[in-house]
Order: sequence, then C-alpha cells, then structure tokens
Amino acid sequence: MVQAELIAVGTELLMGQVVNTNTSYLARKCQENNINVYYHHIVGDNPERLAATFKQALKRSDLVILTGGLGPTEDDLTKQVVAKCLGRELRVDKEASENIRRFHQKLNREITQNNWRQAEYIDGSRILKNHNGLAVGDYFVDNGSSVILLPGPPSEMKMMFEREVLPIWQDTFKSNGVMRNKILRFYGIGESKLTTEIQDIIESQVNPTVASYVNDYEVSLRLTANASDDTSAAVLLRDTGKKIKERVGEYCFSDDQFESLEYAVVYYLTEKGLTISAAESLTAGLFQAMVADAPGASKVLTGGMVTYQTIEKERLLGIPEEIVDTFGVVSSECAAEMAKRVKEKTGSDIGVGLTGVAGPETQEGKEVGTVFIGLAYDDSVRVKELHLSGVRVAVRKKAVKEALNLVIKNIIA
Ligand code: ATP
Repeated sequence: MVQAELIAVGTELLMGQVVNTNTSYLARKCQENNINVYYHHIVGDNPERLAATFKQALKRSDLVILTGGLGPTEDDLTKQVVAKCLGRELRVDKEASENIRRFHQKLNREITQNNWRQAEYIDGSRILKNHNGLAVGDYFVDNGSSVILLPGPPSEMKMMFEREVLPIWQDTFKSNGVMRNKILRFYGIGESKLTTEIQDIIESQVNPTVASYVNDYEVSLRLTANASDDTSAAVLLRDTGKKIKERVGEYCFSDDQFESLEYAVVYYLTEKGLTISAAESLTAGLFQAMVADAPGASKVLTGGMVTYQTIEKERLLGIPEEIVDTFGVVSSECAAEMAKRVKEKTGSDIGVGLTGVAGPETQEGKEVGTVFIGLAYDDSVRVKELHLSGVRVAVRKKAVKEALNLVIKNIIA
C-alpha cells in the first residue's frame, strides 16, 4: 500500500495561530483512497527547515503532499524550495498568468512583480488548476515518488484536491485493494475501562486493527480493515464489531451510523415520531443547540426555554415558589418540574429539565458539578443526579451529553 507524508507549511500553523485543518482533511482523503499516512509535519516559512523536511519525506515515502506557501508574498516559498531540492526549474503557466492579469484588471488593481509567482510551476509537473484562487498547484513524480503541492487556504486546497488530484488518484491507486474504517461510539464508559474490557481483542487483532480515541466525552473505537474489495472489508469489520459489542455493547450508541449522541437522538426520535423540548438552566440553551446541530432536528425539536435565573423558572415555566424555597433550584424536584412543565408548555412528547452548578462557585451549598436532569415522558418523570468533574465549560457540555444519553437509554433503547 502507498505510504504518504503530509507537510503543512506556515509559521502561523507552527505558532498555533491557525489550526492545521488541511492535514486532517488530507489524512482522511488518503485513507479513503487506500493510502497509508505515516507522518504529519508542520514547518514554518523557513527554506532550510522546509528543504530538510521535504528531502527526508521524499526519501522514505511514496507520496509527499505539501500545503501552503504557494502565494505571492516573500514568505511563500514552497515551490521554490521543492524545485531547488530536486534541481528542477520553475516555469510560468500561460493560463494562470492570464487569470492573474484578468483578476487584477477586473478589480482595477495594479499587478506587482511577485503576483506572477502564483503562475509558476515546477518543471515536469502536471499543473493543478486553482478554481478558487490564483496560485496553481503541482503534481509530479520524482524517482518513483509522487509529490503534490497545494495552496494553504482550505477553500482553495479542498477544491484543488477534489477537482484536480482525485481524478488522477482514481487512475493511479485503483488496483491497491481497499482500506475501510468502521467507527463504534460509546457513552457512559471511560476509555481505559473500555479498552481493558476488550484488551485481548485489541492485542490479537491484526486485520482489522482496533484503536480507541476520545472526542467530546464520547469514546470511539476505530476498526480499520485492509481487503481486496469492499465486501471482504465489510465482513472483517462486521465480525470484529460484533465481538466487541458482545462485551461492551450496552454502552455503544453508534455502529458506524452516527457522528455523535445528538445525531443518534435525532435519528431515533424521528424514527419513533417523537418530539422533544428542554428547559435549561446551567446549560442555557446548549442542549437545544446541540440537538439542532444534527440534520433533521426540525422534525423532533419543538423548542424550549432558557430559564437561567430563578425568576425565569417561575415566570416562564410557572415553577411554584414553594419548590424553589423548599428544595432550591439545584434539586431533583426542580429538575422534575422543569421537565414536566416544558413538555406541557410546548406540547412535545418528551421534556428535559437541566439544572445544576457549573461553577466556579458553589450554589445553595451544592458542590460545583452537581447536576439534576429531569426527563418527562408519557405520564412519568424521572430524575438523574450527577456529580460531574471539570471546569464550567466541561460541566455544561457533559450535562448535555448525559441528558442525551438519558433519552437514548430510557426512551429509545
Ligand atoms: P496565499 O495565496 O493566500 O498566500 P498560500 O498557498 O501561500 O496562499 P499560505 O500563505 O501558506 O497559503 O496560507 C494562507 C492562509 O491559509 C493562512 O494564513 C491560513 O489562514 C490558511 N492556511 C494555510 N495552511 C493551512 C492549514 N494547513 N490548515 C488550515 N489553514 C491553513
């Protein structure tokens, strides 16, 4: 299988001012096209370090993809450095020059000498057109290894990749067999507990391989299979997925179908024809916003209320003063009322009430991280009490994830 390295060029990336999204995009695209990515690099706009990184990559990999540094400014020197490393000339593409001329003419802008650099390409390369900007990219083979130069701005890079590089790859890498992934997602179990439960499977698996990672408080297992075709890969993935779910299936909310808990909730509620609403205190709308992130949310999310201050719990939801006076707003009783009342007010099938202490200070003598989630469905209301760890942002986000999981466990499962 083809081995690749990805090099992102730009001091702004190195300094952490811009997040290197190009590399994660290209790494995913490589996988989809049966290319193994072995190394990611970020290099600043420094010719010596770029040259050293490029030479090392070219020596050990079949494919090197560079992004960034194709622009007109003095620090954009990727083409110049790569050309010099390989002893190749830079040439000027007529069509790209014409585009630069027309672009400036249209905007009534003067063309400076360095603008023409965007029309340069490395001798011997196939020119990659820029459908969203001016700098052209390059694709060439040197001593058996392929080199691709793409622009830095993600919108230019992606369009060039999709329209110019993919068609070449479809011809070049077609016969390599396939590499396919399956993602199993879990909630309610920590990464270490999950991997301990399936330690023997992880250790003995060669094809597919099994790797864990955590994202947004959800634990995922990525199963990666190499096979001659899609059907054989699907069988390998299905069998290993089944083995894993026999052990830890109760925590698994997605067998490759959903990106996150909120996507799963929206999907299942749509299937069941159920609607949901929320009254939110500590999460202040985050539950509803996250549900709305999932496609199709308009069919299930009726709406709800942000009742952050106590007065709004009374005014908007009509929570009786006695409940607040007797139990406090951070209480099981208050969460239950919030869930019940928002369900009634919106006419939804399910009502969720979220109240708690996000921090940094304690509230009503309750510790930071104390959260009550009410869930009203049919004629019953249940409440879950939680003691969550972490800072304010984490407590609020975890509270939403817990609420979503509660919906899955109690209404969907
Ligand atoms: P330009 O003509 O815009 O100068 P370029 O190919 O020279 O294009 P760079 O100058 O390296 O690209 O980057 C331009 C901008 O694109 C950066 O300031 C940054 O905002 C964005 N960018 C560059 N590389 C990346 C990357 N790897 N991931 C995400 N964004 C990036």
